[in-house]
Amino acid sequence: MRVVVIGAGIIGVTSAYYLRQAGFEVTVFERNSGVAQETSYGNAGVIAPAYVGPWAQPGMPRKILAYLFRPHAPVVFRPALDRTLWRWLARWYAECALERFVRNKARMQRVAYYSRDQLHALRTRLELQYEQTAGYLQLFRSQRELARCAPARALLVDAGVAHRLLTPEQCRALEPALAPSATLAGGLHLPDDETGNCAFFARQLKDIAENDGVEFRFGVSVSAFDVQGGTLRGVVVDGVPFAADACVLAAGIDSSRSLAALGIDLPIYPVKGYAATVSVTNHERAPRISVMDEDYKVAITRMGQRLRIAGTAEIGSRQLRLRAPALRTLIRVATEWFPAAAAYAQAQYWVRARPMLPDGPPLLGPTTVRGLLLNIGHGSSGWAMACGCARVVADLAAGRSPEIDLDGLTLARYATPATA
Ligand SMILES: Cc1cc2nc3c(=O)[nH]c(=O)nc-3n(C[C@H](O)[C@H](O)[C@H](O)COP(=O)(O)OP(=O)(O)OC[C@H]3O[C@@H](n4cnc5c(N)ncnc54)[C@H](O)[C@@H]3O)c2cc1C
Repeated sequence: MRVVVIGAGIIGVTSAYYLRQAGFEVTVFERNSGVAQETSYGNAGVIAPAYVGPWAQPGMPRKILAYLFRPHAPVVFRPALDRTLWRWLARWYAECALERFVRNKARMQRVAYYSRDQLHALRTRLELQYEQTAGYLQLFRSQRELARCAPARALLVDAGVAHRLLTPEQCRALEPALAPSATLAGGLHLPDDETGNCAFFARQLKDIAENDGVEFRFGVSVSAFDVQGGTLRGVVVDGVPFAADACVLAAGIDSSRSLAALGIDLPIYPVKGYAATVSVTNHERAPRISVMDEDYKVAITRMGQRLRIAGTAEIGSRQLRLRAPALRTLIRVATEWFPAAAAYAQAQYWVRARPMLPDGPPLLGPTTVRGLLLNIGHGSSGWAMACGCARVVADLAAGRSPEIDLDGLTLARYATPATA
């Protein structure tokens, strides 16, 4: 049975790997010249299931309004005359209600914990090294920010997740490279969370999948689906039909555009983010553990001999252009915590957009077209959820029951506005 995968970001590559493992003949179509060249390329690399949650949460609308007047805001809203944006915001606003936040977070965490288990199994089986580091430290600059983490901490306690609230001294003992001059009220250490280089992982898994028989075709675009009588017969690749028994859509921010032609209307909006990658120049002064500045929502991740500094969520502009103030914020935050660690002046900058659904959880599995499966809408946690989502979709394609409950993770959720 022949399955096509559209897109070779982290979601498409992991999907192809698990589909092949399930016994399918797999062809991946990717418009770029290689894997993980779009949103999966320069992300922060954080795999923190305990931290995974929706952007729509209580208090967030008020926070965003307050951010409008902050020069180094972690969230930037640019009102635009874009119907899709306002529709997305309306649903997002509805999802900020406490009970919906709790439900959406639980759905996302179900996937994220499963995904981490799948990643670990894969890592052991295939002996993969992708610049991974263990543990994650959230840093709070003020008592106010520290107090704000109380509800999230309560959820960790309820879920039995290992964590420790640290004093500034304990933070510095755990990560001695933290600048003594940096203002620090405390930290939250999540020892079981981790980070790793998503693109590096994707490239290795692509080679393994290819050796295993998966065919990757680069530099080509899937322009349409061939659907007859409600059943997928194949796809059209640069104007040429390609027959297939099934197709997994993993096209990131372009997924909703592909689906619109089939009458499947999904509000995936591109939420922009930025990253700077810098070479470590002083190993004594560079972080060993990955940290998250909770005030600025900037993650600083150790990736081998480099640091990845990533953050900012910008909504309202679809243009993927670098914006100087956002880049300055990244470097400013990193130099405040680790002033002498790296060659900040030679930073390589990157911008891409998270494929974000307004409520948070991804969409997996069947559509109204027989044979067309989704693996889309992973927002700011696509790397953390990739292996689990891919495994679920491969199981569904093979007619097996997935190992996790799919309640709230399928297209049925969008059957009726903001209620399903
Ligand atoms: C600043 C930033 C920081 C982030 N940090 C983290 C983090 O720490 N942890 C985490 O888990 N996630 C993080 N993310 C989110 C994560 O990067 C994404 O969720 C993930 O990369 C999405 O993967 P994807 O494969 O769906 O999309 P992509 O990587 O964008 O891949 C989609 C692919 O589909 C291809 N494509 C689309 N349409 C077609 C077509 N018609 N024909 C052929 N090819 C097509 C595209 O070329 C692209 O290569 C971050 C994102 C940003 C922007």
